[in-house]
Parts: sequence; C-alpha cells; structure tokens
Amino acid sequence: MAECCETSKTSRNDESHLVIIGGGSAAFAAATRADELGGRVTLINDGLPIGGTCVNVGCVPSKTLIRAAEFHHHAKLGRFAGIESDSRVTDFHAVIEQKRQLVEQLRQAKYVDVVAEEPSIRIIQGRARFVSPQTVAVNGEEITASRFLIATGAAPFVPPIPGLEDAGYLTNETAFELDELPRSLIVLGGRYIALECAQMFARFGSKVTVLQRSDRILPTETPDLTDALTSYLEEDEIEVVTGVATRSVRRGNGDVVVEAAVDGVTRQFRASHILVATGRRPNTAGLGLEEIDAQLDEAGFVRVDKTLRTSAPGVFAAGDVVGDQMFVYTAAYEGVLAAQNALHDASNARDYTALPWVVFTDPQVAGVGLDEQQASKRGLEREVAVLPMSHVPRCLAARDTRGFLKLIREPISDRLLGARILAPEGSELLMELCLAIKHGITVKELALSFHAYLTLGEAVKLAAITFGKDVSKLSCCAT
Ligand SMILES: Cc1cc2nc3c(=O)[nH]c(=O)nc-3n(C[C@H](O)[C@H](O)[C@H](O)COP(=O)(O)OP(=O)(O)OC[C@H]3O[C@@H](n4cnc5c(N)ncnc54)[C@H](O)[C@@H]3O)c2cc1C
Repeated sequence: MAECCETSKTSRNDESHLVIIGGGSAAFAAATRADELGGRVTLINDGLPIGGTCVNVGCVPSKTLIRAAEFHHHAKLGRFAGIESDSRVTDFHAVIEQKRQLVEQLRQAKYVDVVAEEPSIRIIQGRARFVSPQTVAVNGEEITASRFLIATGAAPFVPPIPGLEDAGYLTNETAFELDELPRSLIVLGGRYIALECAQMFARFGSKVTVLQRSDRILPTETPDLTDALTSYLEEDEIEVVTGVATRSVRRGNGDVVVEAAVDGVTRQFRASHILVATGRRPNTAGLGLEEIDAQLDEAGFVRVDKTLRTSAPGVFAAGDVVGDQMFVYTAAYEGVLAAQNALHDASNARDYTALPWVVFTDPQVAGVGLDEQQASKRGLEREVAVLPMSHVPRCLAARDTRGFLKLIREPISDRLLGARILAPEGSELLMELCLAIKHGITVKELALSFHAYLTLGEAVKLAAITFGKDVSKLSCCAT
C-alpha cells in the first residue's frame, strides 16, 4: 500500500473526484483517505443510517449485548469458593436502551463527526444508481465523475423457505432492537452471527434452539474445535441440531413452528421467535450495474481483481459487497486501498496473509493462517501442537480452563503456518501469532520469548513448547 501514500495533495478538481456509493466502513475509510490525498468526495448512502452495518446493526450492538449477557452469566456461576451472587435481568428494555446509546455515540464520534469538518467531502442521503458508465443518479440529481467506488455492503440472506415471510422473523437488523426478551428462540444457521446471537439470548434467559443445515456448526473449522464448541453451547442449555433441512415455517398458537427433516427424520421445532442468520447477500439490486457492465460472481457479489478494480473502467468496489473477507477491518482496509488506487491510478494489491478472525462466543473461537487440514490440502508438511487451556496458569487462577490453543507449523522451517484458538478471551492471543506468521518468527523463538506470568499470553509460549516437550511436566513459568 505504500506506493501512493507520500504523494502531495493534488488540486481538488474533477480528476480527483471520487464518487462513493455506500456509507459504511469501506466508504468512510475511502472518503477520509481520498480527502488526505487531496481528492474531492461525494458519498451517497441510503438504507442503513450513516456508518452502515458495523456500528448500527452488526459489530457494535452485537458485541455490547454479548458482553452484557456474559457478565450476567459469569456472575451467576459461582466459580470461586465462598462467593455467591444472584445476577438477574430485571429490565431487558434498559439493556437495549444502553446499547442504543452506545450505537448513537459511536455513530456520531466515528462517522458523522469525522467528516463534518471536511469541506471536500459531500454527503448525500439517497439511493444511488448508475445511469451510464460515468454518471450516477441520486434524488433526481446526476453526478458525473471518472472514478467510482461501490461500497454498498451486504444484508441478511433470507432463504426461500415456504411460510417464512408470513410467519415473520428476526435478523441482525431487528434482533438487537427487541424491547422484550424472547421467551424462546429458534436460530436458523450455525455460523458466527447465528452462534453469537444464540448464546447471547440463551444467557439472557431465552430457551434457544440452533438449527444448522451442515453436519457441524462452523463447518469450515475442524471437528475437534466445533465438537468442543458445541458441548460448551450445550452447557448453556442451547439445543444444537445439525443436519437440518428446513421444509416450512408457520405460526401455530402464537408460536413459530418449523418443520424440518433432521438426518431424514421429520421433526417440529416451536419457539416464540425465529432468527434467520443463514448468510449475507450483496446489496447490488437497483444499483444499475448492468449500465456499466460490472461483472458479478456466482453468488452475486461484485467481482474485483486484487487491486479492487471491477470490470468497469474507473469503477472500484470494496467491503462486504465484494464478498471475500467480510469483516469491518477488511472493509476499511479495502476502502483505503481502493481510494489510493483510484486517485493515483495505482495498482496496490490486497494482501490477506496473516488475517486474524474471531467468533465472539464464550469461549471465543479465533484463528489466523491455515489449520492442519488446509495445510495438508496445499501439500504442505505440517506438524500440530495442541495445548489444553487447563495447562495455562491464568486459566487455572480464573477457574475457567475451557478450550485449547492449537499451533500448526512447518517442521523443516519451524515457521508457523496457522493457529486455532478456542478459549475464554482467546482472541487476545491472536496478534502475537499473526505477527509471527507475517514476519516469519519461528516457533522456537516464540517458545524462548519472555511471556509474563500469569498472563493469557503464556498460552502461546506453552503451545510452542508443546511441539517438543510435555508441558504438564514443566516447572513454573514454563522453564
Ligand atoms: C451481526 C453482525 C456482527 C458483526 N460483527 C463483526 C465483528 O465483531 N467484527 C468485524 O470485524 N465484523 C463484524 N461484522 C461484519 C461487519 O459489520 C461488516 O463486514 C462491515 O460492516 C461491512 O462494511 P461495508 O462498508 O462493506 O458495508 P456496510 O457497513 O453494510 O455499508 C454499506 C452501506 O451502503 C448502503 N447502501 C446499499 N445500497 C445503496 C445504494 N444503492 N445507494 C446508497 N447506499 C446504499 C447500505 O444501506 C449501508 O449503509 C458483523 C456483521 C454482522 C451482520
């Protein structure tokens, strides 16, 4: 990305005009970068409020509610002798109201205020549509430019299940706005949004059933991890049903009734509410992409090359609408990269080596690089070390030893190929491992580095040592 960053600001003329369609993380990152580079920006947003998915209906509301539910859950657990507490959810409306305030605060501070003082960034509220390769129409106005960025994001994908529309359902756009806690909840889906929501509602007190089509939750992860996570969710009294083919949904006596084939056997599931979390679909409808000949992939996401150029000259795309890595930090990264490439006619390529990701269940699931199956598929020699968290002093002291840390290394070079973590607050271990992969730090070097006693980070050192030694036989401080 460095190629274009030191250039001085060009004059803010038509040549440096970037029209951005969308108003989420990719769009804002692109707008502020374009402004820094001396560009002039028109940003057009509609649908979700300014800030898009993450701050309004995604990361922020989900993570603050997950944290509230965790706090309530752990308070009740009584892990420490001689201490009792009786946590109760006394006012669910107040929980939601506090979330609402945080969303508003962050939307203002991280989006609205960021561009408020920038005369070179014009924001239009309205639905944009390409009417020709160099013109976008919005609110009856036609805006002509030679550079465009499509950053329209994605929305919940709702499968065409007979009866679902009539029965009514929740998605991430409505579930965090409920004023009353659902008595019971069916969650359709078994990937990260589904599981985070399922556990959050279960911990607040809803009776939750997860219906997952594949034979495992998080089906792209290895069975050791998904089996263990399933058992932890079951400890929270969540019913996890896999191998589910949903046939129909209807209302019966006020409840939602789902009829499904589970491993070939017909079953019925009932709950007061149903949440659909079966994936995301790109926001491309009505965008006029046919006017500019922008190609889409099989799933309808906008096809881009490594420099985020679409097949239409001068038109870039970034963030969820590209459908590759659908995280807020990758959306922002792509927004910056696209703005630089657009305004400087540069060809800086996306680089997702050592990309960290997290599922905010408790214990959390986190990963970077390859797992052992992916390494094998690529024909790489690999060796695996698994450290149960019961060997980590921090976890023993916290009386929470759920999960494990798994490292995958290439034996010849001793370089880390990847890591998978299932642990309370496990995402906090990710960055050391990301940097090790990115900068070629060997497993031996990780094992020899100081890690403060008793930190969660010691897990990395202990897992690295596990390649050569039985850590259960080590003395204090893994020596
Ligand atoms: C429940 C949930 C939890 C999540 N949690 C995390 C997390 O913890 N960490 C993480 O990294 N990521 C998380 N994500 C993913 C993250 O929110 C997205 O990857 C990110 O917000 C995508 O940003 P974007 O700019 O590409 O799109 P968006 O933020 O969706 O912005 C697109 C904007 O464009 C608007 N728009 C669409 N069409 C038009 C049009 N024709 N004209 C004008 N405007 C239009 C949309 O309404 C929207 O406002 C989560 C997502 C969900 C759903």
